[in-house]
Amino acid sequence: MNLILLGAPGAGKGTQAELLMERLHIPSISTGNMLREAIKNGTDLGKQAKVYMDGGLLVPDALILGIVAERVAQPDCANGFILDGVPRTLAQAEALDARGVEIHHVLSIEIDDGIIEGRMTGRRVCAKCGASYHIVANPPKTEGVCDICGGELVSRQDDAPETVRRRLEVYHASTEVLKDYYARQGKLRLIRGDQSIEGANQEILTAIGAKE
Ligand code: ADP
Ligand code: ADP
Ligand code: ZN
Repeated sequence: MNLILLGAPGAGKGTQAELLMERLHIPSISTGNMLREAIKNGTDLGKQAKVYMDGGLLVPDALILGIVAERVAQPDCANGFILDGVPRTLAQAEALDARGVEIHHVLSIEIDDGIIEGRMTGRRVCAKCGASYHIVANPPKTEGVCDICGGELVSRQDDAPETVRRRLEVYHASTEVLKDYYARQGKLRLIRGDQSIEGANQEILTAIGAKE
């Protein structure tokens, strides 16, 4: 089963991707995590992406398409994958279709802009594996330590309020149109993001027909 998680920054894509990964035994592909990894490793991709990410802007499509096409071709994606945070522009969505990357369900996690800021100021991510936590809504078992890999939990630089506002504008200007694009293909499923993490997860499992 090949899934796309769509939604504004902070909607809960990464959190739901982790739950789905465990439940469905398929990998999650987060372009945000891949780019942060590239920055950490000082690669060419990382150097090119950093200025855009720091400014809350989208990284150019050409850079994104290269890493995604390569990743979905890996053997562990043969039984399915979850795209978290990609596609983010019409050009990215069209390129996936043109390359024959099949998509079964697109889950758009719906949330009002007003809720986002509180989520972002409380977000902590694992510096090692990218897992997402919240100091109140989804705290790790041990403060500052990733439950999954033991890595250190850090704040994201682009979660500062001014950058979050820019990212929300970018979402509405460039990414939201993908809802229409996938609705026309009959693949769009709307998920309520302003409920508990578990509640949203159940709604997703029902929407993709994965509930027992
Ligand atoms: P969030 O989940 O909070 O929306 P991400 O980790 O998905 O954030 O993305 C962080 C940043 O990485 C984005 O603001 C953007 O600069 C860049 N990025 C991630 N995925 C893409 C993509 N598919 N296209 C363009 N830029 C991307
Ligand atoms: P995205 O990947 O869409 O940017 P995340 O999954 O990283 O979003 O979630 C953003 C922040 O909100 C994180 O701190 C996460 O723990 C928290 N969060 C996610 N889902 C919920 C929810 N349903 N209720 C409250 N907080 C949530
Ligand atoms: Zn971790």
